[in-house]
Amino acid sequence: MARKFQRSPPVSDGAMHAQLVVFAAIGCVALGGVAFTQELISMQVWAALVIGCLCALLMGPDLDQQGVVWSTGIWYRIPVIGVFLGRAWGLFWSFYAQWVPHRSPVSHSIIGTPIRAAYLVAGLYVVAFVVRSIARELGLDPIGQERVVEMFLEIPREVKLAWLGGLFIGDMTHLLRDGTALRLRNVFR
Ligand SMILES: [Zn+2]
Repeated sequence: MARKFQRSPPVSDGAMHAQLVVFAAIGCVALGGVAFTQELISMQVWAALVIGCLCALLMGPDLDQQGVVWSTGIWYRIPVIGVFLGRAWGLFWSFYAQWVPHRSPVSHSIIGTPIRAAYLVAGLYVVAFVVRSIARELGLDPIGQERVVEMFLEIPREVKLAWLGGLFIGDMTHLLRDGTALRLRNVFR
């Protein structure tokens, strides 16, 4: 039981998790393609599904660990600005890692995906707010906070849901491999 909540486990199988996400994304390309050709979904919904699934590479369940995990390390592969992006992404999720014990149901069960999606949206809002405040202090006239919210709201609901659905599929490959998808006990301890 204690094993479930260990704080600093090895990050050995990040590559395996990433491969499974890529396979799932290929599945989303194929199945979404069938649905698109049958005119069941739009091109945007299809794209959102695939992108959502690939986003599981960047915001997977193992972000509940401090330090560089696969999801933050992936940024470091980008030349020149990768280190900065990786550090920024790690910092962004460090509050989440502090709050969520590793492999707890909050990150490693079926409720993990909506929780991380909400954290991402709320966190990006805070970042946008801070950036805008600093820009204003510097005498610049950045895009308004209201406009950012408007742009988010203007994205059709089915596209947002498809993105979330894709992310959920990507995350599920991780949870199935970890064997934790339905472990919902002790969520609120
Ligand atoms: Zn995991």
